[in-house]
Amino acid sequence: MKYIDEFRDGALARKLARTIAMEADPARTYRLMEFCGGHTHAIYRYGVQDLMPDNLKFVHGPGCPVCVLPMARIDQAIAMAVEHGVTLCTYGDLMRVPASERQSLLKAKAGGADIRMIYSTQDALAIARRDRERQVVLFAIGFETTTPPTAVALKVARAEGLGNFSVFCNHVLTPPALKTILASAGPDGVQLDGILGPSHVSTIIGSRPYEFVPAAFAKPVVIAGFEPLDVMQSTLMLVRQINAHRCTVENQYTRAVNRDGNAKAQALMDEVFAVRERFEWRGLGYLPSSALRLADAYADFDAEQRFSVAPGQGKEIKGCECPSVLRGTMEPTDCKLFGTVCTPENPMGACMVSSEGACAAYWSYGRFR
Ligand code: SF4
Repeated sequence: MKYIDEFRDGALARKLARTIAMEADPARTYRLMEFCGGHTHAIYRYGVQDLMPDNLKFVHGPGCPVCVLPMARIDQAIAMAVEHGVTLCTYGDLMRVPASERQSLLKAKAGGADIRMIYSTQDALAIARRDRERQVVLFAIGFETTTPPTAVALKVARAEGLGNFSVFCNHVLTPPALKTILASAGPDGVQLDGILGPSHVSTIIGSRPYEFVPAAFAKPVVIAGFEPLDVMQSTLMLVRQINAHRCTVENQYTRAVNRDGNAKAQALMDEVFAVRERFEWRGLGYLPSSALRLADAYADFDAEQRFSVAPGQGKEIKGCECPSVLRGTMEPTDCKLFGTVCTPENPMGACMVSSEGACAAYWSYGRFR
């Protein structure tokens, strides 16, 4: 299949691995953060880390929207469904993420709450159209990649006068998270030499928003696709920048990303959303201007305003190291619960549940100590 098989070619992978090994300077180390969980899964699914020289290490970043959602927001969504009796619609990954007091959306559903798994925002609209007597809340999460479909759903709802539809908005913005990680880098934080940048996000916002990384932190960035050869080619591009003492934003994922992104999607987001003053990220704390809320013109569709619920407690499970894994300061196997108490069947933290979580990647592809 075009754009898939050609980026999974074993012979090309071996050739790229040889080139990286030849060009990597044995006198130094290369610590490269793959921002996205999609990169983490490609790295372990295809054994990319094992193809790298010993002095090149991938460090996992916070690029999993399910993983960075603070527990308190899941508590709040459950309270909306239970206390207000709304139909809460969300994506499958979120259903099993642990909430406070050993709750989850799935357990709340089993307890009688009307919580439904959907595949797209259009499913939530269809549910709202079918039963106009029911309040239907879309529990919207995701980075810039998944924000435009939520914006479309809101515009459609308004055009159709779907007064029983609303959105619990948890969309977050990736550049502020990367800035926080880089600002905390150093002896007490994560040590990084370069960044494999989020490419699906950049299809929307372009590569330009990451230009602060070389400018303010003197680190190179390569916007990297998600197939194994994308990751390897991007790694080589980073190695070359580091060796040449260059730092700039380069774009490996040229088949989908340009510097300015998708202007139409950005205009849609600007119309429907506004930037929140601050928002909590699991593992990173409260970050300024790092998330979106509904714009004032769409306040009628804001579930947080329509159904007031007390903020959740957001009590993390004792021993779960998701916050450190998301900051890149710990590997999943450093967590005492990994593979013992915490498995995909019995997840203790979001990083083991989500299909983009680092703990799930280690477990699925047999990365045990
Ligand atoms: Fe959290 Fe489980 Fe990962 Fe440990 S292994 S950090 S408990 S998700």
